[in-house]
Amino acid sequence: MSGGADDMSPTPSPSPALRGEGNTRRAILGAAAALPLAACSQQTPTIVVGAGVFGAWTAEHLRRKGKRVILVDQMGAANARASSGGESRMTRGTYGPDEIYTRMALASLEEWKRLSARSALPLFHNAGVLFCFQEMIDYARDSIAVHERLHLPLEQIDAPALRTRWPQMNFDGIAFGLFEPEFGALMARRGVEETVARFVRAGGEYMLARAEPGANGGSVVLDGQPYDAAAVVWACGPWLPKVFPDVLGERIFVTRQEVAFIAPPDGDDSFEASRLPGWADFNNGDLYYGFPNLEGRGFKIARDTHGERFDPDTGDRRITEEGAALLRAFAERRFPALAGRPFTEFRVCQYENSSNGDFLIDRHPTLEGAYLLGGGSGHGFKHGPEVGRMMAELVVNGTAPDQRFSLASKQTVQARRRALIWTAGVSPACAGVGRRDAGGPY
Ligand SMILES: Cc1cc2nc3c(=O)[nH]c(=O)nc-3n(C[C@H](O)[C@H](O)[C@H](O)COP(=O)(O)OP(=O)(O)OC[C@H]3O[C@@H](n4cnc5c(N)ncnc54)[C@H](O)[C@@H]3O)c2cc1C
Repeated sequence: MSGGADDMSPTPSPSPALRGEGNTRRAILGAAAALPLAACSQQTPTIVVGAGVFGAWTAEHLRRKGKRVILVDQMGAANARASSGGESRMTRGTYGPDEIYTRMALASLEEWKRLSARSALPLFHNAGVLFCFQEMIDYARDSIAVHERLHLPLEQIDAPALRTRWPQMNFDGIAFGLFEPEFGALMARRGVEETVARFVRAGGEYMLARAEPGANGGSVVLDGQPYDAAAVVWACGPWLPKVFPDVLGERIFVTRQEVAFIAPPDGDDSFEASRLPGWADFNNGDLYYGFPNLEGRGFKIARDTHGERFDPDTGDRRITEEGAALLRAFAERRFPALAGRPFTEFRVCQYENSSNGDFLIDRHPTLEGAYLLGGGSGHGFKHGPEVGRMMAELVVNGTAPDQRFSLASKQTVQARRRALIWTAGVSPACAGVGRRDAGGPY
């Protein structure tokens, strides 16, 4: 059976209280969290632990395949500590030579657009994405080749044309830009909440509970109470190394990431999504990226370098003064009108990096019935729908995705394939900073 996110499938038949009447998170949590699992339908459930973007879409795809699915989260869908809990996430197709990610981003974008069209508030802002390069490098060359092969629009724009098109930016030092008109920004937290709400309305079940592995792969302990499941998908994002320290303790590296929002000049529409795309500046290897003023939240900026190791439970989520100063300095250099404008908000989130930036979509190596899903590595959000589809295929049909998503491909030392991006034109000063992995975060 297949159906869209709106498909009110008759297959699983939870009690009315689990249907999450209404579209709000409160309705979902309030209804579902109150009921014991025994009150649900008779089919042994498949349990998905983690209602971040990966878990939410896995649950939805399992539901579309006719499974009774219970989605569990310890704090709520796209909660404040989750990697999916941010305001906005970039979606792009430029992935250097890694065509698999371009294809996944495209397929996922279709799902996001469908969901956005049915949602009361937008989930996708088609602002476009602009990449700025100081010189031609393999990453840009390969991206152009992949886009040509897939007949995907990608404009190569020289510096004078960049200045004319986006006069609010200072393009000093930029040789050219690559502009992807089809992509843009996803409203992250809202997107996951909407995915979960529609999953519940179509018959899926949702619980607020903390999960731990049970006695075997097909069992799970929810708030201290053991339950049997047909299968358990552990989509715990940055918590995965804690849940499975033996297998993932050294294979998922959780790092601290700082984000800032700045108020554009009052009354100035040149920072609106209609006039400014999402952007990324390769900046000779020290990459910064950001968004226009989406929904009045402020101009967003982040530096895409891996921060210190971070604990998602106890890590300090206040931005450092040094981090704020770096973000302000870069914003003011590239966007002169932001000089002296106030910060409106800060966020500290975490990347859950695999050794090479490729996602983890695999069986647990020893626990039959348990599956591992994560390693978003700072670029996973946009791919949520496709990642969920792949995991559901593995669980239901035993179809393994590409080898690069296997546990076996994940090493215990970070060995990012920076060669994929920085093979040409990188300055010696930047060559050793361990930048860029498979897709590159954001
Ligand atoms: C600052 C920042 C910027 C980013 N920018 C982009 C971008 O522009 N584009 C992009 O595509 N990606 C981006 N990413 C990456 C993307 O956000 C992540 O890859 C993605 O959100 C990971 O989703 P997830 O579902 O694996 O993890 P999470 O969203 O963290 O979800 C895991 C969930 O599991 C739950 N959980 C954990 N343990 C348990 C347990 N024991 N019991 C019950 N529940 C549990 C948690 O509460 C959490 O809700 C960015 C990430 C960050 C931090």
